[in-house]
Amino acid sequence: MGAGNRTPGGAVDGGNGRHAGDGERAVRRDEAVRAAVEQGLLGAGTPVAALLDVTGIRESAAALRAAFDAAVAPGTPVLHAFAVKATPLVAVLRLLDQEGIGAEVASAGELALARAAGVAPERMVFDAPAKTDAELREALALGVAVNADNPQELDRLDALVQASPTHSPLGLRVNPQIGGGTIAATSTATATSKFGVALRDEGAWEWVVRAFLDRPWLTRLHTHTGSQGIPLSLMAQGVAETYRLAEEINARAGRRQVDTLDIGGGLPVNFASEATTPTYAQYARLLGESVPGLFGGRYGLVTEFGRSLLARHGTVVARVEYAKSAGGRRVAVTHAGVQLATRTVYAPGAWPLRIAAYDAKGCPKPGPEAVQDIAGPACFSGDLLAQGRTLPLLEQGDYVAALDTGAYYFAHHYAYNSLARPGVYGFAPDGSGGVAFAMVREPQTIEEIVADSGGAHTDALTVLRAPGRS
Ligand SMILES: *Cc1c(COP(=O)(O)O)cnc(C)c1O
Repeated sequence: MGAGNRTPGGAVDGGNGRHAGDGERAVRRDEAVRAAVEQGLLGAGTPVAALLDVTGIRESAAALRAAFDAAVAPGTPVLHAFAVKATPLVAVLRLLDQEGIGAEVASAGELALARAAGVAPERMVFDAPAKTDAELREALALGVAVNADNPQELDRLDALVQASPTHSPLGLRVNPQIGGGTIAATSTATATSKFGVALRDEGAWEWVVRAFLDRPWLTRLHTHTGSQGIPLSLMAQGVAETYRLAEEINARAGRRQVDTLDIGGGLPVNFASEATTPTYAQYARLLGESVPGLFGGRYGLVTEFGRSLLARHGTVVARVEYAKSAGGRRVAVTHAGVQLATRTVYAPGAWPLRIAAYDAKGCPKPGPEAVQDIAGPACFSGDLLAQGRTLPLLEQGDYVAALDTGAYYFAHHYAYNSLARPGVYGFAPDGSGGVAFAMVREPQTIEEIVADSGGAHTDALTVLRAPGRS
């Protein structure tokens, strides 16, 4: 595929790891920030908002499809299921569905979001380490594919499958125990990970083979060997182990019992620059090389990418409420902090974010630059989006943008200090040189904050009495 694939979105995804859409994405983002200020989505009264680049999301979806289309034998069934946990917003799921991307859900809530978005049950996969009986029943009744996590969950499936037939493809999650990456909290294939059946544990491999031979309805193997911080080669190794297991099960069953491999998600995102690297095409190529046979057409495939589809297409924009100085350090106090960038604030070393500076009109701020802290609004000193960052000197009324926050950031509001969830707006060209916005999620109101905090139960504690006492 040397010359590069032209995707429907216009992005060129060649073999060099660069992505021709990267520069255009930055231009679109700058235009959207200016338009958001101009159109009043942001201002003194609305000091923070989140923006989603519809064009960019479509491009990423197209790049994912193109990468696997180019790699697999013609006719191979491939379901790309977006990991809903990455961006649990109904309009995003609908957009991806329209782009041919289904949904990977991991709770009753995520299943409900995917259904609200209109994703067809046969384009969903239900993975979760703690599925309840009720959740399993619902998934099986709908025909949603289920990947069991452990032997006890398989026992439950035994009972449910016996009680009533289901269209749901059923699988088992395995943990190839190939090791972790640079971020412990997102390393899912360590020796002691909580996910799946640990394949290298004494007797486990054989146990899994038997579990399949005993259950003719078990037809899928699932692995998700990591997320941000995991080298691609390690992910490919996890898929290779899973493939080897499928081959052994099928050989001993004497038929193609395992017909689908779910290879999970986990493609890392480059948070350090605008370059899209690694690309889906690179990962697909690596998989083809490391796991000969994977793409040959004998197995259908499911993927579950989350962060890599959405991260780059989200931007949090926040007003600089005050600019001050402390101990010689400049501090811009903004409205984006721990409530929107929880991981970055609590683990800044693992989750650094790029910050862009804009003036009060939303135009990219020219120099002079200065070393600054970008602080959030929460009342603890560690609430910093960035520390000691060299940026154009921020002043009161300017805006900062936290880039690449489309996954696991503003859609994952953290209610510290009862800070309100910001509005989320999608943007796209309006057809006449400007930018059009559409509401994706309403900003949370103060009344909603009170209600969500038990406002209907004011006297609950003051009227409580110990039983039997008067
Ligand atoms: C979180 C998760 C994903 C998505 O991971 P990303 O790093 O966002 O691509 C996919 N599958 C499972 C089972 C997950 O838990």
